[in-house]
Amino acid sequence: MNEMQCSDFQSAVSRFLLRHQSIIDILSKCQESTSRINRAAVKAVTSCGCIEINAFKPKLPKDASLDDLREILSSQVEGQLCETCKEALAEEVGRSLFYLTALCNVFDISLQEVLSMETAKLETLGKYNLV
Ligand SMILES: [Zn+2]
Repeated sequence: MNEMQCSDFQSAVSRFLLRHQSIIDILSKCQESTSRINRAAVKAVTSCGCIEINAFKPKLPKDASLDDLREILSSQVEGQLCETCKEALAEEVGRSLFYLTALCNVFDISLQEVLSMETAKLETLGKYNLV
């Protein structure tokens, strides 16, 4: 997201958000929207079936390098989201961004500054970032 899109989005959220201005509402909506992201991903597995989750404990060699780990560790997702599930998931991600942005608005936090700081952190840590 470039700087203009970030501030446009943040302003649009601010203008739109009349009903849920209370921090209590925003906090609970943030949590609910995260749950809905999880639900959309789960439904792609259990209702649609376009993806499967093959979860297991990865076997990590003791002398594995960070580059080895990148190869060994996986998302444990098999297949690809169909268009319907991808749209549903993207919609929930959008809803979650909306409420996170509303949270930023309450506390006068610039979404652009948050993204810039996180990008700078990631670029500084490079491949050693294991978060
Ligand atoms: Zn699907």
